[in-house]
Amino acid sequence: MDLSYTPEEETFRLELRSHLERSVPRDEPPEDLDAEFEWMCAFQRRMHEGGWVGIHWPRAYGGRDATPMQQAIFAEEMARVRAPQFPNRVGINNVGPTLMHFGTEEQRRRFMPGILSADEIWCQLYSEPGAGSDLAALRTRAELDGDDWVVSGQKVWTSYAQHARWAILLARTDPDARKHRGISYFIVDMRSPGIEIRPLRQLTGASEFNEVFLDNVRVPRSNLIGKPNEGWQLTQVTLAHERGTNYAIKEQVLMRIEVDELVEEARRRGATADPRTRQRLAQLFLETEIMRFMNLQMLTRLGQGITPGAETSIVKTFFADLSQAIGDAGTALLGPHAQLVRGSRHAVAGGRFVLHQMFSRAASIAGGTNEIQKNIIAQRMLGLPRD
Ligand SMILES: Cc1cc2nc3c(=O)[nH]c(=O)nc-3n(C[C@H](O)[C@H](O)[C@H](O)COP(=O)(O)OP(=O)(O)OC[C@H]3O[C@@H](n4cnc5c(N)ncnc54)[C@H](O)[C@@H]3O)c2cc1C
Repeated sequence: MDLSYTPEEETFRLELRSHLERSVPRDEPPEDLDAEFEWMCAFQRRMHEGGWVGIHWPRAYGGRDATPMQQAIFAEEMARVRAPQFPNRVGINNVGPTLMHFGTEEQRRRFMPGILSADEIWCQLYSEPGAGSDLAALRTRAELDGDDWVVSGQKVWTSYAQHARWAILLARTDPDARKHRGISYFIVDMRSPGIEIRPLRQLTGASEFNEVFLDNVRVPRSNLIGKPNEGWQLTQVTLAHERGTNYAIKEQVLMRIEVDELVEEARRRGATADPRTRQRLAQLFLETEIMRFMNLQMLTRLGQGITPGAETSIVKTFFADLSQAIGDAGTALLGPHAQLVRGSRHAVAGGRFVLHQMFSRAASIAGGTNEIQKNIIAQRMLGLPRD
C-alpha cells in the first residue's frame, strides 16, 4: 500500500481546494425545505462552473475521467469543508454511469448535460411497498400501446421526487417471465399526467422522500434504456455505482470530524472525568481509524484495477454501525440538552449531534440493509448456504 500522493494528485487537490473555497456556502442552510434544496442546487452549479461535478464521468460528457485516487481526494476535500451534498446525486452517481453503459448516444446527449448543471434533477423509482430488499418482486407494470409504454403502480421512499424533472424507473414488462427476467428500465418525465407525489415526513422533520403513484403514465418508446425485459442487468450496474468507494471516504472524514467535536464538547462539559466516557470516546476514535484503513485498502485494490466485490458489504455494515454509535454517544454523553434540535436556544452544538443520531438510522437501511449485507458476506465470503 503506497500512501503518498503524486505531484499531479497534489495539484489536483490544491485546484479543488481553491474552487471549494469560492463555492462552499458561507451561510447556514435555510430552514424551509424548498429553499434548502435551491441552496444545494446553487452550490452544485458553482462547482459545475469549475468542472467539479461528476468528475468520474468521461471528459466527452463533461467529466474529468478522474482516477480512483482523484475521486478519493475529491471526497476527502468535500468532507473536510463540510460541503453540502450535490442534490442531483441520483443523476450523477446512478443515471450517468447507466447511460454510459447501456444508453443510446441520443439519450446520453439529451440527458447527461442537465445532470451536471443541476438544471434537471433526477430521482430513482425503484422501491415499492412490497419490494425493497427483494427488489425483483416489484409489481409496477408497463405495457406497450402504440409508440408508448403505459405504466401503473406505486413506488415508495423516492428521494427528491418532489424536485425531480426526470426519473429512472423499473417496471414489470413480462408478467409470465421469472421475476428477475421480465423487468424493464425506463426514463420517466416526472411532469407526465398520471403521476402523483406524496411527501413522507421523516424522523428529522424533513420530507426528503416520497410515495409516488403512477396511473396509466405514458412513456415514449425512446425512453426505454437497453432492451425490454433486460432491466435487471442494468439495475446491477446502477446499484454498483450508487455509492462507490468515495462515499465511504467522505463519510469517514465526516465521522472523524464529528468524533473530534464530540471529544471537545465532552471535555468542555467535564464529561471526560468519567472513565466510561473516556472508554467510549476512545472506542469511537479507534473504529473511525479502522474505517480509514479499510478505505485505503479498497483504494489500493481499485488502483490495481481490482473491482471491489463482497468486501464492500463489510465497509457498509461497519460504517452504518459506527455512524449510529457516534450519534448515540453524542446525545448520551453531552447531557439532556444534547437532545434539543436546531432553533432551540439551549441546543448543544446547534442540535447537530441529535440530528446525526436521527439521520444515522437510515445508514443501516439505504443502499441495502445490514441484514442483506450480512447475507452477502455469509454467502459469498464464507460460502454459507443461501437464506
Ligand atoms: C434515506 C433513504 C433514501 C432512500 N431513497 C430511495 C430512492 O430514492 N429510491 C428508491 O427506490 N428507494 C429508496 N430507498 C429505499 C431503500 O432502497 C429501501 O428502504 C431498502 O432497499 C430496504 O427495503 P425496505 O425498506 O422495503 O425493507 P424490507 O426489504 O421490507 O426489509 C425489512 C426488514 O427485513 C429485513 N430483511 C429483508 N429481507 C431479508 C433477508 N432476506 N434476510 C434477512 N433480513 C431481511 C431487512 O434487513 C429489514 O430489517 C431509500 C431508503 C432510505 C432509508
